[in-house]
This record gives sequence, C-alpha cells and structure tokens, in this order.
Amino acid sequence: MTFRFGLISRIALLVVGIEVAAFGALGWFYIDRYTAAADERLRSRLRLVETMITREELPVSVISRKELVSDLLGAPYVDGMVVGGSGRVIVAADPLNLGRPAQDVAGIDVRWFADAAPNHQFVQGRDTLTSVAHVHRTTDMAAVYFTVLTISTAELQAQKRSIVLWGEAGSLLFILLSSAGVVLVAQRLITRRIHASVAVLKRVEEGALGERIPVASDDELGQLQHGINSMTEKLAALLEQQRQATDDLQKQTELLQSVIEHAPIRVFWKDGDSRYLGCNTLFAGDAGFDRPDELIGKTDFDMAWRDQAARYRADDRAVMASGTPKLDFDEPQTTPDGGTLWLRTSKVPLLGTDRRVIGVLGIYDDVTQRKRDADELERHREHLEQMVEERTNELSVAKEAAEAANVAKSAFLANMSHEIRTPLHAILGMANLIRRSGVTPAQATQLDRIDVASEHLLGIINAILDLSRIEADKFALNVAELNVGAIVNNVCSMIGDAAQAKGLRVLVESDPLPPRLLGDATRLRQALLNYAGNAVKFTERGSVTVRARAAQEDAEAVLARFEVSDTGIGIAPEHVAQLFNVFEQVDSSSTRQFGGTGLGLAITRRLARLMGGDAGVTSTPGAGSTFWFTARLAKAAGHPPAPAPREAEPEAVLKRDYGGLRILLADDDPDNRYITQALLSDVWPKMDLAADGVEAVELASRNRYDIILLDMRMPRMDGIEAARRIRELPGGKEPLILALTANVFPENRRQCLEAGMDDLIPKAAKAEAPFAAILEGLRRKAR
Ligand code: ADP
Repeated sequence: MTFRFGLISRIALLVVGIEVAAFGALGWFYIDRYTAAADERLRSRLRLVETMITREELPVSVISRKELVSDLLGAPYVDGMVVGGSGRVIVAADPLNLGRPAQDVAGIDVRWFADAAPNHQFVQGRDTLTSVAHVHRTTDMAAVYFTVLTISTAELQAQKRSIVLWGEAGSLLFILLSSAGVVLVAQRLITRRIHASVAVLKRVEEGALGERIPVASDDELGQLQHGINSMTEKLAALLEQQRQATDDLQKQTELLQSVIEHAPIRVFWKDGDSRYLGCNTLFAGDAGFDRPDELIGKTDFDMAWRDQAARYRADDRAVMASGTPKLDFDEPQTTPDGGTLWLRTSKVPLLGTDRRVIGVLGIYDDVTQRKRDADELERHREHLEQMVEERTNELSVAKEAAEAANVAKSAFLANMSHEIRTPLHAILGMANLIRRSGVTPAQATQLDRIDVASEHLLGIINAILDLSRIEADKFALNVAELNVGAIVNNVCSMIGDAAQAKGLRVLVESDPLPPRLLGDATRLRQALLNYAGNAVKFTERGSVTVRARAAQEDAEAVLARFEVSDTGIGIAPEHVAQLFNVFEQVDSSSTRQFGGTGLGLAITRRLARLMGGDAGVTSTPGAGSTFWFTARLAKAAGHPPAPAPREAEPEAVLKRDYGGLRILLADDDPDNRYITQALLSDVWPKMDLAADGVEAVELASRNRYDIILLDMRMPRMDGIEAARRIRELPGGKEPLILALTANVFPENRRQCLEAGMDDLIPKAAKAEAPFAAILEGLRRKAR
C-alpha cells in the first residue's frame, strides 16, 4: 500500500511548511537584531572617536595612526582624513592624500561637506562604513574642518553570513528530524489503523459484508471505525432487504409472465410509437414467430398483417390520446399464410409510474369460429323471420277464421237458446194453463212431470250458456247484499224432496258468518246446489251435510267456504284431477246409471274462481266425498236496507189494483201469443194483439196503452225497433213497455233498456214471473 500524497505526507508537508515559516521568521528576526546591534556598536564607537577628536580630547593627528584608531574602534580602520575649510586634506591616514583637494581623493564625496549637509552622517559602502563630521567655529559657526573616518565592515558581513548559514542549517536539520518524528508517530497512531480499516472496507466492498474493523481505541478514529462497522451492518441488512425485494419482484415478474403466457388469449403491449415491447407466445404464433422476444421492437408494418397496420395504429393512437380503453370490438387480422382471422380486441392505455400514458396494452380472442357461427345464425334468423312472417300471415288468416267461427258460435248459442226456450215456453205455458183450468190429481202429477222435465231441460240450457259466457269472459256477477244462511237453507230445502225420496238425511253445520256480505246470491246458490244435487244423486244411504263458514276474514272481506259432504260412492283418486273439467264424468257408465252432462262441477269451479275463490274435492271411494268451494265476499258498508214487507201474490195485487189497465201484446208466434194472453186473462180479460212490430207501432199510435208487451224476435220489425218508435210517438213515454224474450243475456237486457223499454220478462220462466215483472215495472213507473 503506497500513499501518494497520502494523509501522512500531507501532514509532514504541513509540519515542514509551518516549521520553515516559523524558523524563517524567527531566524530572520534574531539575525536582524544581532547585526543591527553589531552595526550600532560600530557606529557608536565611530561617533565616540569622532566626538573626542572634534572636542579635541584626542588630537586630530590621531587619524593618521591606523593601529591606534583600529584599537579605539575595535574594527579594522581602512582610511581617515581631515579636510580643512579650504577643501584640502590636512590630516590623512594615507600620506599620499595629504594636501590634495578633497574631490580628488577616491571614495570622497564633496557633497558631504556642503553647508546643507548634516553635521554628522554615516555613509554605508559595500564593505565599508564612513562617518563624516563637521567642526564649526564657536564664534560664527563657520565650518573649520571636516573629519572622515572609514572602517571595513567586511568582517562583520562575513560574521553575519556565517550566522545565517549556521542558523539555516540547524533549522533545516531540526525541521527534518521533527517532521520525521511526527510522521513516524502519525504512522503508528493513524495510518496503520486506517490501512487496516481500508483493507476491511475493501473486503466489504468485494462482498464480505460480515467483515468488521477491529477497534483498538475509542478516539476519533475509533469512533469513525465504529461508525463504519455499524454502517456496514446496516448496509448488510439493507442489502438483505433489497435481495428479498428483488427475489419477490422476480417471483412476481415470473408469475405475471406465466399468467400472460398461459392466459388463453392473445396479449401484447406496445410503446408510444406502436412498437412491440412484448407479447405472449400465442400472439407471437399468430404473427408467425416462435418466441415473443422475436417481435420486440417491430411494428405492425413488419407483420403479416401489414395491410391492417394503419387501422391498428389509428386505434393505438386513439386509445393513447384519450387515455380511455376501447373494448370488445371485432376486427380482421391477416395470418402469415394469407388467411383472415376475426378478433375480438380490447385496447387499454398503458400507464407509467407517473400515471402518464406510455403505450398501449392489447388483448384479443380469436372469434373467427364464433363469427362464422353468428353469421350462420343470422342467416337462419333471417330465414326464421321469413318463416315467422309467413306463419303469422297464415295465423292471422286462421285467427280471422276463428273469430268468425266464434261469432258464429255465439250466434248459434243465442239461437239455440232462443229456439229451445220458445217451445219450452209454450210447453210450460200450456201445462200451466191446463193446470189452471182444473185437473184430476193424476193429471196434476202428469203435469208436474212435464214441469220437472222442462225445468231440467232449462237447467241444461242455462248451464251451457253459463259456461260459454264464462269462457268468453262475458260473464258478469250480479253483486248485492246477501244472506249466506238463507242460501244454505234454500239449497237444503231444494234438495229436500229428492233426499227424502232416497231416505237420506240432510244436515246443516254452519258457523255464523259476518252479517251483511256482498255477493251474487244466485250464483252462490247455483254452485252449492250443484254440489248438493250431486251428493244426493251419488249417495244411496246415509246423509248429505252442507256446511258454510268463514275460512279467512279481514277488514274488507270474508273468504266463505262451502262444503257438501256425502256418504255416497266416492271417487277414485285417479279421477279426481279431471273432475272439474268440462264434460268430465268419472266414467261413461255413470252417465248411463246417473245421467248428467258433466258440466256442473266445471261451472262451479269457474264460478268460484270468478268470485275470488276456488273449488275442489276430497273423496274416499265407497265412503263418500266432500266437495268444497270458496268465494270472497266483501263486507257491506252503510245501513242495511229495510226488509221488504211480505206481500200477497203479484197476480192478486195486479188484479186488485191494476185490473182496468189497457194492454197491448205483440208476438209473432200464435202459441206464445195465446199462452201469454191466457196467462194474463185473469187480470186483464181484454187485450189488443199485434203479430209484429209494425202492427204494434201502428196500434200504439192510435190507442193509449198502459202496458205494452213486445216479443223481441218478430218478422218485419223486432221488439227493439218497435219500442224505440213507440217511445217517439206523442204520449209514447207513458206506457210501461216490457220485452218478452227467450234471450236472457245481460246484453239483451241492456239493448232493451237502450231502446226505451222498462224491463224484460224471460220466457220459459216460472208462471208467476210475468206478474212479478209487470207489478215491479208499474210500481217503478209510478215512482
Ligand atoms: P253431472 O253430475 O251432470 O254428470 P258434474 O260435473 O256435476 O256433472 O259431475 C261430474 C261427475 O263427477 C259426475 O258424473 C260423477 O261421476 C262425479 N261426481 C260428482 N259429484 C259426486 C259425488 N258427490 N259423489 C261421487 N261422484 C260424484
């Protein structure tokens, strides 16, 4: 280890410099003092001698005596003279100079003797010192003579030089020795320890981070070494940390690389100039390369897809400029063999650590197959659309046909209803007339049979009509305040005769329901009667139990539950499911045994659903069945209506109060005309008859009637039109006009009312129905 101008050399140089400066200054000072003292001593001797001469304590002649003067001065006397006032030498150490003018003597300067010159002065020569003194006359102070004494200073000079020489030599020696000493001591105290430290540092630098500098002393250097040691320790820890971080980073990088590598998509990333910075192997494969690094630095213009490069670059630029991703767009890509792939690409801006956009990251999926499939699908879709359109056209034709058929069906039902009701009306009417005319008990029983058969037929017609109207969504409930208990009792009494005939007991197990409920009493009765009738029909022994209770109740309504249990034949489980379907009976043999149409349960369930409930059955074959249905009945608000007072039969009331009224009856069917006339003849023996609407209007314009009964269906002019015209006649508002009709749908009633009629009387109804309707109409009119 060599120290070129190392620390010690510098210290040594410093020491030498300081010593040189110190010794130089000190030496110079002492030499100067010493020589100045020597000079002064010489000069004072010179002055003393001169003074003694001028004061004549010594004779002037002494100047000529060299040895004497030399002794007096203690210095070699070189020359001396006395120059008189005349300017000539009057006494001289050198006899040759005697009597010579002063200016001719070598080494004499006559300016020394000028009046202006000082009375005494020293003149320093090279190796000489000359003292010049003026001697004046005491009287007028005129110059009498001048003394000049010159001594040699060569010896003094030589003495001075030797002192300087020896001083310098001594100092130099001292300096060298002291410097060497300092260096040696510093070497011992500092350099070795520094060298040792440096050696350790070198080893640390080479990687031996476990090395430590041995610290021998606690001085400043020792502290420095301690500092270096602890720094090394910290460095080691720091390096360990860094190594770990680097390891982690490496692992993460590898993981990331592996993720990118194994992701089943193409990944690439480019710099701000759209140069590839990296990609995964899948992407490299698309570009026709084996390894991702082969792409680095290339652009899309270097790729097989250079024909698409401009578009790709435009996208890159747009993404980088906006800083927002462009996601999931389809684009084509040319393959190395010239084919075309379809890609679903996403590009996102690549951000640097300072959040500035430094490039673009892209991923894409090869959707060529998907696109092909989608195209195929699109073709199919178009085909399908075409097919659907064709089908829709066909369907709309079919729908029109169906609608037409539906209209036809409704018309058929209306007609059928009318056509069956009309003869039924005649049958019932005739039977009624026969009964009124007085019959034997046997004939009365026969007439009862006619009634029962007709009622049955009427029931069937009504059932068919109900069902078709429910299915056509035309069915409307007639909601009014009702009494559930009364309905139950009513039904029980209706089946009472039949049950009694079979020896069955009829039981009622009703919990009281809240009073004042709203519902369609007719339809509830109908539904319950269906069950009760069936129960009697399919039970040979035992009983039929009718129940009514509230299954649920809230502030607004009650869900009433009606049940009819029997001890009859029951129903096999496999039949239960279909039971409530239209025309469904347990088996066709039951039709032969029990009769029936299979409509009752279907209607009951539909009615129950219309009323916000449902219907069902639980049954055990051989043991009996329980049929149930529920209906939501709203609670009535306000005051209950006053109960109608019990009254005599309408027919009797009419006879008593309205016997004198004039009546017009219009009906095209002579049988019906006859029956109606005969029925009403007890009250009104005389009435005008018309065979159609035209005749009716004609009669009404000529006469004033109180009551006009119009058949709905008549040739030439129907009842509706006739009513309308009658109402337009003068005084036409007065009469009570009632329709006679076998068509009892709500829309028929509406039609009648719109035409100005007051109400309608259904044909084929109970014999007392017309009286009740007429009485009710008259009373309403009177009000
Ligand atoms: P119908 O009684 O007019 O045939 P329903 O719809 O009222 O039509 O009844 C359908 C079928 O359900 C009946 O034919 C019968 O097979 C069965 N059924 C109905 N009620 C009972 C009952 N209480 N016990 C046994 N079977 C019944």
